[in-house]
Amino acid sequence: MRYAADLHLHSRHSQAVSPEMTLENIALQARRKGIDVIGTGDCLQLDWLSDLRRHFVPAEPGWFALSPETDDQITASLPPSLRLPLRFVLSTEVSCVPPGRGRFEGIHLLLYFPSFETLLRLRERLAPFGDLREGRPELRLDARRLLGMVLDFGQDCLIAPAHVMNPYFSALGSQLGHRRLEEIFGDLSPHLLAVEMGLTSTPIMCRRVSSLDPFTLFACSDAHSLENLGRECTLLDTEAGYIPLFAALTRGAPDEILGAFKTPVVHARYYLNYCSRCQASFEDLHCPHCRRPLPVGSRDWLERIAARAMPAQPPPAFQMSPPLLALLKALGWKAKEAEVLRRRLLDRLGHERHILTEAGPDRIAEVSGPRLAAAIAARRRSNFPYSESLADEDPPAQLAFTLS
Ligand SMILES: [Zn+2]
Ligand SMILES: [Zn+2]
Repeated sequence: MRYAADLHLHSRHSQAVSPEMTLENIALQARRKGIDVIGTGDCLQLDWLSDLRRHFVPAEPGWFALSPETDDQITASLPPSLRLPLRFVLSTEVSCVPPGRGRFEGIHLLLYFPSFETLLRLRERLAPFGDLREGRPELRLDARRLLGMVLDFGQDCLIAPAHVMNPYFSALGSQLGHRRLEEIFGDLSPHLLAVEMGLTSTPIMCRRVSSLDPFTLFACSDAHSLENLGRECTLLDTEAGYIPLFAALTRGAPDEILGAFKTPVVHARYYLNYCSRCQASFEDLHCPHCRRPLPVGSRDWLERIAARAMPAQPPPAFQMSPPLLALLKALGWKAKEAEVLRRRLLDRLGHERHILTEAGPDRIAEVSGPRLAAAIAARRRSNFPYSESLADEDPPAQLAFTLS
């Protein structure tokens, strides 16, 4: 089965997340975006957990579907071409803050669970270490110890570092300053599931860092809002179910991990050096306006931690595109017109990822006119060949925008 998986997002129970991130809305939006398998996010949070238990029915082993009553209501509002099966995986992100350290010294990790029973049992073990009322809880545990606990627990629970090169809260982020995964996870490193790239790094960037060599790279949206859902995802070809999905992620074989769909890294806030006061990213390590020293973004930090100037082996396939709505606005459509046109494109052509990566330019032009079709075609051409210059590519002026 070929499918697109987005295995990291947040519910309305996490900090700074849109109240629209309800189960129903997520299920609706996943179809619009072209996601087939989605992480629930926040599954340690009890209100969210009870929502999940109320609305889920078991599907393939370790995967869940919405109950037919709930799902029929949701899909009724979609055009027939978007009424596709959708599966969920129990997932959460946690922030591991070593005892005695401040919350900004936390490292974000992704956890996956094959069943509600295992989730509840591991939840009990984690409860003494943090306040699990928060969707993305802080655990007073260093990351190696959490990995050890998950491994001791067994039961097919899995753990992976999130947005690996983001300057903040990340295993190889500039703010904590680690240069190798082993500095954090020590001898347990080989037991990590895989490595989430995050918006701030591409496969080419990650494959320059030798401590990431053993791991499959995967892409997820880390969505805090419906619009961002599916902006990054991983394309797989496996049997259906939790074990085949994660076994494939562990192995990273190219016939199972078909590639990644990503947002162009240049649009990520923390790719360059971001000034939170002036709310803009800069080439320099000091803000040209307020002169403050800036946190080192992933582009510059990579040059300090990379073992090599180019990947030792070809990186996995990936395609990059901004989300459709962002693309339309960047091309000059006003917000309302852009939304109307997007709906029309989805109705006529299918889901958003299909439009951005596969649909024939003629078909797109028939619905939207030639300007969008040309922009999408140009974006697709720039994805090939996968060259080093890709990561450094300057966005065309009219496409300059930043995604949080
Ligand atoms: Zn995170
Ligand atoms: Zn997150």
